[in-house]
Amino acid sequence: MGSPPLKITFLGTGTSTGIPMIACDCIVCTSADAKDKRLRSSIMVESEKTRIVIDTTPDFRYQMLRENVKYLDAVLFTHPHKDHIAGLDDVRAFNFFQQQAMQVYANQMTIDALMREFAYAFADKKYPGVPSLDLNSIVLDPFIIGDIEITPIQVWHMKMPVFGFRFGDFTYITDANRIENDEKEKIRGSKVLVVNALRKEKHISHYSLEEAIDLVLELKVPKAYFTHISHQLGKHAEIEKRLPEGIHLSYDGLKLTC
Ligand SMILES: [Zn+2]
Ligand SMILES: [Zn+2]
Repeated sequence: MGSPPLKITFLGTGTSTGIPMIACDCIVCTSADAKDKRLRSSIMVESEKTRIVIDTTPDFRYQMLRENVKYLDAVLFTHPHKDHIAGLDDVRAFNFFQQQAMQVYANQMTIDALMREFAYAFADKKYPGVPSLDLNSIVLDPFIIGDIEITPIQVWHMKMPVFGFRFGDFTYITDANRIENDEKEKIRGSKVLVVNALRKEKHISHYSLEEAIDLVLELKVPKAYFTHISHQLGKHAEIEKRLPEGIHLSYDGLKLTC
């Protein structure tokens, strides 16, 4: 199955605290540049017929309002950390207007966490108006939502297996600091790679800026955008001008076609 043309929207590009971080007076958190304002990391992937969001961050409601999203086919989850799942309750609005359960795709570890963290949505006797969720357990096999084929890629977030996703020529990887060689092969040939680059210093569960650059160069992906950015990385404008050709920092609201 060939991939239809896709539109990618960066709903958020910040690490778990967001930027500005509560109570922080650093030069990044107090920057006047709109590109230094980062909600928690998530993207929307759309074809003409299908619209998918990856992860429902604590900022999901505002992200949907900002992008004026009126309909959503599915939510894909990368992993169960709170900055990637906390906004799930707000799919209720789509349940209401679409008159159906939201289709949710995640690995079994994430599904178990969703059932725990949002237990009220799976209770036998549900309070009226709780989110309606249809959980689909996925493994590493490619699967299809609407007219979009999706290939999961297993990456490592310290010891946690996390899903990256490839859609046609576009690959999205958040929250990783290691990828095994077999899984790297799935990324090769992508025209655009989004990958996490937390800060300049090494971190136990995220790629640093240098490690992310090395990955892009190793896989020879012509265009890359870094996401899941911490205030510790520095100001967008200053980091951006020092990056190798074809590599950019993403920012909230950035749109790509692929
Ligand atoms: Zn995260
Ligand atoms: Zn700060």
